[in-house]
Amino acid sequence: MFLTGKTALVTGSTSGIGHSIADALAQEGANIVMTGIGDEAEIEKTRAKMAQDHGVEVAFVPADLTAREGTEALIEAARTRFDAVDILVNNAGMQHVAPIDEFPPEKWDSIIALNLTAAFDACRLCVPMMKARGWGRIINTASAHSLAASPYKSAYVAAKHALAGLTKTVALELAQDNITANCISPGYVWTPLVENQIPDTMKARKLSREEVIENVLLSGQPTKKFTQPEDIGALAVFLCRDAAQNMTGGNISMDGGWTAQ
Ligand code: NAD
Repeated sequence: MFLTGKTALVTGSTSGIGHSIADALAQEGANIVMTGIGDEAEIEKTRAKMAQDHGVEVAFVPADLTAREGTEALIEAARTRFDAVDILVNNAGMQHVAPIDEFPPEKWDSIIALNLTAAFDACRLCVPMMKARGWGRIINTASAHSLAASPYKSAYVAAKHALAGLTKTVALELAQDNITANCISPGYVWTPLVENQIPDTMKARKLSREEVIENVLLSGQPTKKFTQPEDIGALAVFLCRDAAQNMTGGNISMDGGWTAQ
């Protein structure tokens, strides 16, 4: 329970990877600020289970992070409830699959806002709290798409490459403040975000569902396996340990060998 007394804010923690990261940090004793969008009753079940399983406080703060005011209100709510954010996990993200000449500009705007700008704002607002307590961890869920592109994902690939650049810059600025900043870059993880892009990928590439899974999603991953959300949670826990105190500015791949090729 090496994180007892610390507070972790994990964006997009009502589902998928963010939920696994929050659960893993709670297991080590961190209080959790959970945030995301979805069915309130389902979210309350998830929140209560995490709190009960690990004996920590878990506060759900609803926030639409495509708007700057949403991020600002979220950080303020975390500060009011727990006095500090010691661990910031910028994880909330969305995807849209379409050829560049058909890509809806409003989708571009919302993907950049959620996958990139919200992380900038959250860092900007949480770093003073970390500096005040002399310790901090910033963990950004980037993607293999922060290192390599795929067709039809212009906004997502642009946002994730930029998120990796933001992470490096923040790491350098905080290098002597006992605050680290790193990206975790998964390949494909079986979550709603991946499942929901299958119909558009079928349309864009004229493939069946099975062909999308085998020939698109897993084709680039030499292990031919999806990354497990729990494994990403375990990596986030490691990044909070003292053993990771000199790991900063990194972009750590968990992508079945995708970007090794
Ligand atoms: P998910 O769809 O399961 O979860 C996304 C989370 O973001 C949810 O909690 C959702 O409520 C939240 N969210 C969505 N729109 C929001 C908004 N406007 N404001 C606030 N929160 C919002 O997806 P996931 O697969 O767990 O993805 C989490 C992160 O991991 C994303 O940044 C994604 O890009 C990244 N990622 C996913 C994969 C994958 O294969 N699933 C691979 C690499 C990177």
